[in-house]
Amino acid sequence: MKEKMIQDFDVLIIGAGPAGLTAAIYLARNNVKVLVIEGTNPGGKLAEQSKIENYPGFNSISGVDLAFSMYNQAKLQGTSFVFSKVTSLESDEKNWKILTLENGKIYYAPFAIVATGMQNLVPTQVKNIEKFNHKGVSYCVVCDGTLYKDKPTAIIGGGNSAFEEGLYLSALASEVHIFVRDGIIAEKSIVEKVRAQKNMFIHENSVILEILGTNKVEKIKASIDNKIVEMKIDAVFPYIGFKPATSFISNKTLLDSKGFIVVNKNMETKEPNLFAIGDVIEKTVRQITTATNDGTIAAKLINLKIS
Ligand SMILES: Cc1cc2nc3c(=O)[nH]c(=O)nc-3n(C[C@H](O)[C@H](O)[C@H](O)COP(=O)(O)OP(=O)(O)OC[C@H]3O[C@@H](n4cnc5c(N)ncnc54)[C@H](O)[C@@H]3O)c2cc1C
Repeated sequence: MKEKMIQDFDVLIIGAGPAGLTAAIYLARNNVKVLVIEGTNPGGKLAEQSKIENYPGFNSISGVDLAFSMYNQAKLQGTSFVFSKVTSLESDEKNWKILTLENGKIYYAPFAIVATGMQNLVPTQVKNIEKFNHKGVSYCVVCDGTLYKDKPTAIIGGGNSAFEEGLYLSALASEVHIFVRDGIIAEKSIVEKVRAQKNMFIHENSVILEILGTNKVEKIKASIDNKIVEMKIDAVFPYIGFKPATSFISNKTLLDSKGFIVVNKNMETKEPNLFAIGDVIEKTVRQITTATNDGTIAAKLINLKIS
């Protein structure tokens, strides 16, 4: 079995968001052989954000630009990348880490860092939401918004993400309808900007009940202030929150009751040589700066252990 495993690396990092890329930069600069395994695109949630205005050094930068700067920096320092999803993480008797990937490859290394962030929650109460995934239902305005230029669109959610990404969409779409079920929790300043847009409509106490269409989203059935209506809508973007991306971890004792990974101040999990960083860990503030902070701490400690 072990002979089939790829053993070329000292450290395996799962996830190429800001946390994983920061750790990779610090490790590769120290000549540690590091592989980042990414299930989708480099940059993680960063690459899905229209605008970032609170990352030091940039008054305003697009998420994609910041994501690709971090990715290119990690590559330039010598990090290797593989694009495939990790489906299981296990440890052997020496505490070396075994990662199985969707592409069939198995990697084996003395250290691993989990930097998988969080994944979108799906509003499963909306009938047909999964049927129309990628056919008008999308979880990323920045990625898919341009497909709906001059078309009527809907956003689900009442938080900052729903309102901020709605604003971005309003520059493309003919109309943006925001459906808020449980009250608006977005910051006042963002809500005011939305209210000032002529093509944005906030529907409070309202839910999308069903998505209708033949091969793609064509209409929605919604309850707006207790009235059932049908609206012509071409795209639905749910922004209702996230859950930790930890389902591939075999050792469930590493997780808290909500599925986040528990770590100490050095970003070490309960399992020797397994670290976790960024949004995936149990913590109070989930931002780019806190993700890069965690990546720095984990990498510095691994650098010390390896040297
Ligand atoms: C809409 C929105 C707006 C935001 N705005 C801001 C902002 O303005 N400023 C700010 O500081 N923060 C903002 N944030 C928060 C910030 O994006 C996150 O805190 C940060 O991206 C966390 O970084 P991370 O590396 O921990 O995780 P992520 O960025 O989520 O990256 C995790 C990566 O791991 C990959 N992955 C997951 N599972 C697997 C697997 N099994 N195998 C392989 N790869 C896997 C994912 O594909 C992803 O690329 C925002 C978040 C959202 C959603």
